Amino acid sequence: MTSVSPVLLWFREDFRLTDNAALWAAAQEERPLLCIFVLEEAALPGGAARWWLDGAIRVLDSALRKRGGALHVLSGAAREVIPHLARVAAVQAVHWNRRYDPVGREVDTALKTALKEEGIVARSFAGALLNEPWTVRTKGGAPFQVFTPYWRAVRAAEPPRVPVAEPPSLSFVELPEEMKPHLVPLDRLGLTPTSPDWAGGLRDAWIPGEEEARAHLTAFLDTDVEAYAEERDRPAQDATSRLSPYLRFGHITPAQIWQAVERSGKAADKFLAELGWREFAWSLLFDRPDLAMRNLRPEFDALPWRTDSKGLAAWQQGRTGYPLVDAGMRELWRTGWMHNRVRMVVASFLVKHLLIDWREGERWFADTLVDHDPASNPVNWQWNAGTGVDAAPFFRIMNPILQSRKFDPEGEYIRRWVPELARVPASLIHAPWEADADTLRAYGVVLGRDYPGPIVDHKGARARALDAWGEFRKGIG
Ligand SMILES: Cc1cc2nc3c(=O)[nH]c(=O)nc-3n(C[C@H](O)[C@H](O)[C@H](O)COP(=O)(O)OP(=O)(O)OC[C@H]3O[C@@H](n4cnc5c(N)ncnc54)[C@H](O)[C@@H]3O)c2cc1C
Repeated sequence: MTSVSPVLLWFREDFRLTDNAALWAAAQEERPLLCIFVLEEAALPGGAARWWLDGAIRVLDSALRKRGGALHVLSGAAREVIPHLARVAAVQAVHWNRRYDPVGREVDTALKTALKEEGIVARSFAGALLNEPWTVRTKGGAPFQVFTPYWRAVRAAEPPRVPVAEPPSLSFVELPEEMKPHLVPLDRLGLTPTSPDWAGGLRDAWIPGEEEARAHLTAFLDTDVEAYAEERDRPAQDATSRLSPYLRFGHITPAQIWQAVERSGKAADKFLAELGWREFAWSLLFDRPDLAMRNLRPEFDALPWRTDSKGLAAWQQGRTGYPLVDAGMRELWRTGWMHNRVRMVVASFLVKHLLIDWREGERWFADTLVDHDPASNPVNWQWNAGTGVDAAPFFRIMNPILQSRKFDPEGEYIRRWVPELARVPASLIHAPWEADADTLRAYGVVLGRDYPGPIVDHKGARARALDAWGEFRKGIG
């Protein structure tokens, strides 16, 4: 072992070598690195994101190996494993990039104290967000509750920090022998599904890693970014960046995206504002750690949600009989991702047409999205349910048929994900039950046999939701 004390670099949700402040700082001190990831059972994400995590670990390990190191995956609780490792490896400093979810923050704070007691420095760095959540505040020092002034404040402030490059040279130390019992071999991470292996669609759709993240960004900036504001709502177009899982796993940082947009010289305000929504969600979570559990507007606790396991299952499986809803839910199941406009439509359908508590939908997305994060998911669910801050009012009920006609006019997206309807013409595809049975049969569809009839009638479901809203309003006086 080298005589210079190594830095223990703890990777968590920052699977990258560029713009990695924790790595950069260690390299600046010319200290060798001991790179680890701790497989903490309690902190593991949902199924689809777990699949991604597996890939993220492998890709980073292979990048480190090319540079003479490795990513050592250790089992156990970080609070115990890290101080133990720091002791046996004679480490004087542990570096990590900050995470902002309540569980992670708690672990990190306790660990910092534990390390300090042992005389080991724990240094945490920024990187996952443009702004640390506690730094953007109203003039009165309170957290923003509304997006527009939040974003105005961000835009008026200093531009984001300039991302750092990959350190030009890195050196590494071996994992000490004593830690080998904690080492989890990469072929035994247990993060990917086996029986059954449902991840085929995810493998077809995505390649985790930093290089892929850069490729997505470049491809996006090469397109007509100016058209993003118009085209981003059309699910059949490939008009958005698809960077969300790469951001989620820190293969890329918002500062890198910001810099690339500025260098491109393209007008991309709308796109940057979407990154702003991500920031806003994290700032809300920072102040409201129970975001996925509680209505941000507590009066909504009185809303009479329905228990409807059949309806919930039909929604989850993409068998509601509403083609746009079903297309979205099947895209999600197959690829772990869903277009944003369709996420809004399916969320509204669950909450308003089926009157099912948004938390059921939030949980399903948490398990099936590769980009699931504990801030954006509940914030968007609460926004769509009307229970959140700055949210769409509950009584504004999206019409899934009109949304379909407007945003997928030719039915291309529907046909891609609902092949039963592949031959149905655009004039009928958005509401096939409106066609007579013989016409539909000519296009290869018998409702109830090849494709379900609608599980709720749009008008009836709308009236039911408005009634529930009326009752709820009376109740809260
Ligand atoms: C019910 C619901 C649940 C959602 N859950 C998540 C989630 O768990 N994780 C997640 O990353 N996004 C979530 N979103 C937001 C949004 O749908 C995705 O970020 C977006 O579809 C990702 O595609 P993209 O990368 O091509 O986005 P682009 O349009 O290219 O946008 C660029 C980036 O901005 C961010 N962004 C865009 N829209 C939003 C938004 N509404 N809220 C927060 N950030 C946004 C994402 O990081 C995205 O990658 C949810 C939206 C809804 C309606």
